[in-house]
Amino acid sequence: TREVHLVRRPHGFPEHDDFALVDRELTGLGDREVLVANHHFSVDPYMRGRMNDIPSYVAPYALGEVMDGRAIGTVLASTADGIAVGDLVRTNLGWRTHGIAPATGVERLDVPDGVSPSAYLGVLGVPGLTAWVGLLDVAGLRDGDTVFVSGAAGAVGSLVGQLARLRGASRVIGSAGSSAKVAWLTDELGFDVAFSYRDAPVRRSLRAAAPNGIDVYFDNVGHDHLEAALASANDFARFAVCGMIAGYNDTADQRSPGVRNLAEIVRKRLAIRGFIVTDSLDRNAAFLQEVTPWVAGGHIRSRETVVDGIDHAVDAFRGLLRGENTGKMLVALHDS
Ligand code: NDP
Repeated sequence: TREVHLVRRPHGFPEHDDFALVDRELTGLGDREVLVANHHFSVDPYMRGRMNDIPSYVAPYALGEVMDGRAIGTVLASTADGIAVGDLVRTNLGWRTHGIAPATGVERLDVPDGVSPSAYLGVLGVPGLTAWVGLLDVAGLRDGDTVFVSGAAGAVGSLVGQLARLRGASRVIGSAGSSAKVAWLTDELGFDVAFSYRDAPVRRSLRAAAPNGIDVYFDNVGHDHLEAALASANDFARFAVCGMIAGYNDTADQRSPGVRNLAEIVRKRLAIRGFIVTDSLDRNAAFLQEVTPWVAGGHIRSRETVVDGIDHAVDAFRGLLRGENTGKMLVALHDS
């Protein structure tokens, strides 16, 4: 197998030298284990947090170890009941071409017609569940809401906007980092309004997009976006705080600007709730039941930005943090 290891904790934006490609022989299968050849693995923003050695909701990556994370692949050998050679599976094997996983860490996938297997890393995977749980359970979307989502052209955000429409929002607004992404949101995904945060201050763009204020904010970005949402919030608005990517590469000496209008929380009686999707895995069946037919039937659209080859995994990850993806960022392994 060829693997990507974290060998140094990044200071600020991750550098190539923080990682190493390692070739390794896989040893024999133990009892109830599965040998998998990965087709695709996911690179995700949360992985940046795991590169820091600080306590969090998930343990930090160890130096000199493989970068684990969600992957899909084909079973090459198995000593586990119910998992056979040739099965398509989702695992936590992460940034490697091949790996051995315990049966408890292997999920068989039955992929319906009209759905691609890699969707189970994106729109029907953890990013999709995150969008669904955040919008419905955390923000409590109601008919007629005006919804604003930041990071709207990403894996999570692109589903938030489409779900909001399908679930009765009256106006859906998204922000993203380029005019091409903005065009995708409005022309193909059905957002009512979208803007690029690079064109003008977010506060001003959001005010223009939502002259009557917003009822729900789904935060993927934090900082200037959160400040703008606080400024445009209606009384009793609900915020689902999913991520704050604008600050993920901050260092002690270089921090993104803080949010200056927190007093709006009191004045407007806002409900602001952070959440972590892994607390809601029991919602996955309900999520799949609702969203799979929408994906298979084309009512929900998704895109993937696919980087080829394990040797470019670090490029894919750095690209994700720079916004080079539209929709889900994945690494594909064609030769495995
Ligand atoms: P995305 O597909 O959205 O990719 C990240 C995107 O973030 C980039 O494409 C880029 O798009 C945008 N971005 C990067 N830097 C900035 C910045 N400084 N300001 C504004 N936008 C920026 O990733 P995901 O959909 O996987 O994740 C989206 C968010 O959800 C992240 O914050 C992530 O941490 C969070 N998350 C939280 C979970 C939870 O359980 N709470 C679970 C999964 C994800 P652009 O071109 O628009 O800048």
